[in-house]
Order: sequence, then structure tokens, then C-alpha cells
Amino acid sequence: MTTTSRRFVIAGNWKMYKTVDEAHDFTRRLYDQMKDDVSSVDVVICPPTLALDRVTHTIEKELGGAPFSTGAQTMESGDEGAFTGETAPPMLTSLGIQFVILGHSERRQYYNETNETVNKKVQAALKHGLTPIICVGETLAQREAGETDTLIQAQVKAAMTQIDAVILPQLIFAYEPVWAIGTGKTCEATEANRVCGLIRTSLSKIGDASKTRILYGGSVKPDNSLELLSTPDIDGALIGGASLDVSSFTQIVYHAAQLSQKVPA
Ligand code: PEP
Repeated sequence: MTTTSRRFVIAGNWKMYKTVDEAHDFTRRLYDQMKDDVSSVDVVICPPTLALDRVTHTIEKELGGAPFSTGAQTMESGDEGAFTGETAPPMLTSLGIQFVILGHSERRQYYNETNETVNKKVQAALKHGLTPIICVGETLAQREAGETDTLIQAQVKAAMTQIDAVILPQLIFAYEPVWAIGTGKTCEATEANRVCGLIRTSLSKIGDASKTRILYGGSVKPDNSLELLSTPDIDGALIGGASLDVSSFTQIVYHAAQLSQKVPA
């Protein structure tokens, strides 16, 4: 973040936590808490699908806008169809949703998402004007086998199949080592930055990736976010556990805002 003008993205992935009423209450409390100027940061909260309508309505109608917007945690790739339980991109855009997390490791692990389905979803997101947050990352076994770089490069390449290079500045990637998600084991900042740099280098083979935002995710907390966000190739954070706590999430957003002020105009 020191050499470019990429805006930080701080995204909270609530996973399968919070009822609709709890999500509403959290949104109001987050609004009340986030009083400092965070306009230099793209702040996104990703509630469960069922709460997206209420949270978006709370931000737009009850609060008259907020310094954060909403994203979905996943979606299907088709516009509509017989896919029981799924959510189509137009259902999200009709609510004013701007972002969608795609290929989260929990989706890959528990719901059989593959590099191919992730790519279809990336294409669908772009077709509907949604900004995808595309997750890639290795398991502990893959890291220990020395496969991290090859795997990340393959995931990035697959996600970008049939995606026009001109779209690169609009894309967001998230490096999320699976072994760091929800475990309290954060990837060292230098290593997280290195892998984020590797993602940028992989994308550079397709086109100009200097404006693509690349986030780190995996046990990001207020006590490690400043160090992670200070590195040159990490442009933000995808946060699970700490995004469920108003003060922790706000602290991380404030760290990004603090660092943004040092970015040359
Ligand atoms: C995540 O779910 O994307 C994540 C990074 O979770 P946590 O911050 O809890 O590790």
C-alpha cells in the first residue's frame, strides 16, 4: 500500500452467525461505533443470505447510509433455475449488494466448489456488476509438501479463465491459507505479503494487475492487522471471527484508515 493508490478493503465474513434481528442490531451498533473518518477504506460486511435484505435496508433507509456496505458470502452462477436453496446474482443486485465472496475454502471444502465452479461464479458476478472477492489458499498439508506456490498459481489461473484482462482493476482476491482460518494461527506478515505478491505476479501474466486489490485472510485481529496491512502487497483483510465483534472489526478498519493516510495522492 505504500507504493500505489490501491484503496484498502476490509471485509467481514460473518459465516453462519447471527439471526436477522441480531444482524440488524449489529449493523446499528457498528454504525454507532465507527465514528472516525474511514472514507479512505472500502468497508464491507457479509451477513448470512437471509439477513442481507434487512442489513441493506438498515444501512440505506434506517441510517440513511453508513461508512460500510454489504456483500454476500456466496451465490450460484445462473440467473435463475431449479437449484434448491441457492441464491442467484440478480437476487443480490436487486437488494443493492455490491460484493460477493467466491471460492471461500469452506465452500470448497464442504460444498464441493471447484476451481471450475468458482470461475463460473466469477463470470456471473462480473456479468451482473458484482465485485467478486475471490478466495485462494493452501491447506496445511499442501504447505508442508511445498505446494503452496503452485497451488495458488493454479487457483488464480483457473479463476481467471475467460475473464477479460481489462476487468483486472475491478477484481479483489483474498489469500486465505486454510490452516490460518478460524485457528488463531496467523500467517507471518512477510509470508502473507509474499504470497499476495505471487498472486499479483500471476495476474500480471494476464494483464495489468497493479490496481487489483489483494487481501489477506486468516485469524486477522486488531493486534496483528497493523503489521499485515503495512506490507506492500496486502491491500486489505477478509475477516471471519473478529468481524463478529463491533470493537474488533472497527479497530481493524481504523488501522486501515490510519495507514491509508500515508499513501501518496
Ligand atoms: C474467513 O472466514 O475468511 C476468515 C479469515 O476467518 P477468521 O478471520 O476467523 O480466520
